[in-house]
Amino acid sequence: MHIFMQKLISPNAPGSGQLLALILSRQATTRPDIERVSGLSRATVAHRLDELLEIGLIDETAARQPSGGRPARILKLNESFAVTLAADIGESVTRVAVTDLGPRILAEQTVAIDVGSGPLPILGEIARCGRALLKRVGRKPSQVFGVGLSLPAPVDHEGGRVVGPSVMRQWDNFDIRGWLEKSLGIDALIDNDVNLMALSEHRRFYPNADHFFFVKAGTGIGSGIVTRGQVYRGGRGASGDIGHIQFDAPKAPLCRCGKLGCVEARAAGWAIARDLRTLGFEGQTARDVMALLDRGTPECIRRIREAGRVLGEVLADVVSILNPTTIVIGGTLSQAGEHLIAGTREMIYQRCLPLAIEGLAIHTARSDDRAGILGAAQLVIDAKLQPSAIGATVARVVG
Ligand SMILES: [Zn+2]
Repeated sequence: MHIFMQKLISPNAPGSGQLLALILSRQATTRPDIERVSGLSRATVAHRLDELLEIGLIDETAARQPSGGRPARILKLNESFAVTLAADIGESVTRVAVTDLGPRILAEQTVAIDVGSGPLPILGEIARCGRALLKRVGRKPSQVFGVGLSLPAPVDHEGGRVVGPSVMRQWDNFDIRGWLEKSLGIDALIDNDVNLMALSEHRRFYPNADHFFFVKAGTGIGSGIVTRGQVYRGGRGASGDIGHIQFDAPKAPLCRCGKLGCVEARAAGWAIARDLRTLGFEGQTARDVMALLDRGTPECIRRIREAGRVLGEVLADVVSILNPTTIVIGGTLSQAGEHLIAGTREMIYQRCLPLAIEGLAIHTARSDDRAGILGAAQLVIDAKLQPSAIGATVARVVG
């Protein structure tokens, strides 16, 4: 084993892996800051950083003079150290991409395939495209951290499988992770699309928000929780399923899950489209609803504002329980902007205690439709660069 690897995985804390964690989380990105936060001497910090610099895992910029301060060199991850393979399975298309460690997309391919085709045809396409894309960017399998997969279904993250009722019935309990690892010869991680959108939106735009809550309001409704930079999944990966919380409402509408009065049945894209059809408009999905909104249809505006208040009802409970500092609403319906979130804000401010809403920020999402695939890449990057894994990761890439 290379001398650096031995030190990287040395149990004497804080080692190079811990210093890397400080740099990645941006808690400390200069030598003086690392000395201060880690409590290590200048010589020890220099020695450990040299290890990371020599293997090419981090870069140090030329000294710059911050206004009024001493010149500082900034330490950051070398984003071209390795790559990830990422895939995002949607209901009718699957995207596959190779990313650097930014993550930024280096090459990508979109395949039109229905999620109802089942696991083998779709995973087969992902493996085939993945190999072709890695060839295109000229990376060897040893330089690939792993494959991350985003799925539009409840996912048992630990077990690497889809569980329970979803649009992916044939996938129930199929060993997705095992299949990908065997086929591609690299580690695989899977999660549901909302958790990964939450992770990507947080890391790119709100890295300092310690208690972050993301809502996907599209044809369906779901949410993801990122606390202190990590996705909070709960006991089995089912946390954040706000779409099927039920409220007693007069004439509670039937949900597609079979229960009455779910948040989805009152505020999701499919439910708004259902109500608009009774008024003579056409449409089935959140996209159809947005098309009506773009034409300035008053009935559509009114129905979206109502949906915003329903979201606000459930988010008021979320705020009372979790006390997030930032709530971001994404998904297709969030393109309605203030039409949607004005009502959401109103309900949260009306129902929550002053301390819970002090400093609470509520925004619409800034990510585009690549949030799922970038989140899948981030999942792999985080797993491979954590202090307990970094020794094995470097040994594999550097050899
Ligand atoms: Zn439901």
